[in-house]
Amino acid sequence: LAEKLQETFRKLKGKGRLTEEDVDEALKEVRRALLDADVNFKVVKDFQKKVKERAVGSDVLTSLTPGQQVIKIVHEELSELMGGVQSKINLSSKPPTVVMMVGLQGGGKTTTSAKLSNMLRKGGRRPLLVAADVYRPAAIKQLQVLGAQLDIPVFSMGDKNSPVDIARAALENAQSNSRDLVIIDTAGRLHVDDQLMTELESIKAAVKPHEILLVVDAMTGQVAVNVAETFNQRLGLDGVVLTKLDGDTRGGAALSIKAVTGCPIKFAGVGEKLDAIEPFHPDRMADRILGMGDVMTLIEKAQANFDAEQVAKLNKKIKAADFTLEDFMQQIQEVKKLGPLQQIISMIPGLGSAKKLKDLGEIDEKELVYVEAIVNSMTPWERRHTHEISGSRKKRIARGSGTSVQEVNRLLKQFEQTRKMMKQFADMEKNIKKGGKMG
Ligand code: GDP
Ligand code: MG
Repeated sequence: LAEKLQETFRKLKGKGRLTEEDVDEALKEVRRALLDADVNFKVVKDFQKKVKERAVGSDVLTSLTPGQQVIKIVHEELSELMGGVQSKINLSSKPPTVVMMVGLQGGGKTTTSAKLSNMLRKGGRRPLLVAADVYRPAAIKQLQVLGAQLDIPVFSMGDKNSPVDIARAALENAQSNSRDLVIIDTAGRLHVDDQLMTELESIKAAVKPHEILLVVDAMTGQVAVNVAETFNQRLGLDGVVLTKLDGDTRGGAALSIKAVTGCPIKFAGVGEKLDAIEPFHPDRMADRILGMGDVMTLIEKAQANFDAEQVAKLNKKIKAADFTLEDFMQQIQEVKKLGPLQQIISMIPGLGSAKKLKDLGEIDEKELVYVEAIVNSMTPWERRHTHEISGSRKKRIARGSGTSVQEVNRLLKQFEQTRKMMKQFADMEKNIKKGGKMG
């Protein structure tokens, strides 16, 4: 999935402005990639609509970096689709907290029960694992082995008792041994069936869990979503654990589960080892899906390519050493449209890799407002003759822009430094062309 989306964004690279057709084209690819990744059809349709609404019209068409805008929107919407923020587990203020693990066979319930107990113990809890899968051969043994590895007690009553009785007894056991966290590992089935649901409903009624966590295998894609829907209808889920996100996993399940069921994904299983569990972060998952590293590079490139004409003009001015405050101002305005300040620097040819960036002085985003106000308060003559601005003129400019003379001076100084640096780079370039050495 990540590769496909990256391919789409690669196509956006270097475009100045996106037309509506470009947005449609990009979204068609996004849609195809998501459907291929087994994302629920309804979810994809909805997603596409949302992104389009935001992308076309206001933002993208008027933006100078449409590629960046589209990526940002897709990223935000992907993250939103998965719940937006990280969801925590419900821990009861009155111990013990009871967590009931449910899901199909092979999804990872038993493993996740152990992982979770280990993780929460690190947070200071005293967990008790409960072996309530009395159907699968060796299921009890499996949990006991994991418990022993972690040195966490496992409550079991063999496979002759009902899961409901086991769960009830486990609760008492936890209370008398001052265990404040009870994690019940239940049985699964190969498919959702009514008998299983009825049994889980009885356990729920008997122990009133604070948290019912559905454990689903991310590799099963759409199936995981359907499973989540059914379990949620019957049991009312508090959260989902998405396992096997370590392998060659399709991201589809992660994208659809929250959207379809409304249940947040709370944890991700990322391996067979007992510490291979992490809180699920929607924004990080979106990063992962989009392959953020590459996307970031792409954004940079899109910006570097942006408005080549203007850059060429600027380049000429630098060489002619008549870079004016008006150009500086224009650059600042471009930056404002582009986003982070650093980018003006990478946009200016030759400055991108400059080690002397700090010499430019630290202008932060908020200050840009003042910079703009100051330049706007100058007459055209003043903008072109920055060296000759008198004290009284500076006072007038400061008053006109709602700033102080110090701020006016600071801006002029920054401009001067920028101009000097540009001159240096222009000279350096000339020398290199002549075959001379730098420095
Ligand atoms: P249960 O039937 O739902 O209790 O599933 P199990 O806990 O027995 O797990 C089934 C298989 O999936 C086992 O081989 C686990 O080691 C494996 N498994 C569980 N979670 C993960 C995970 O996050 N990543 C990987 N790679 N394997 C997992
Ligand atoms: Mg099991």
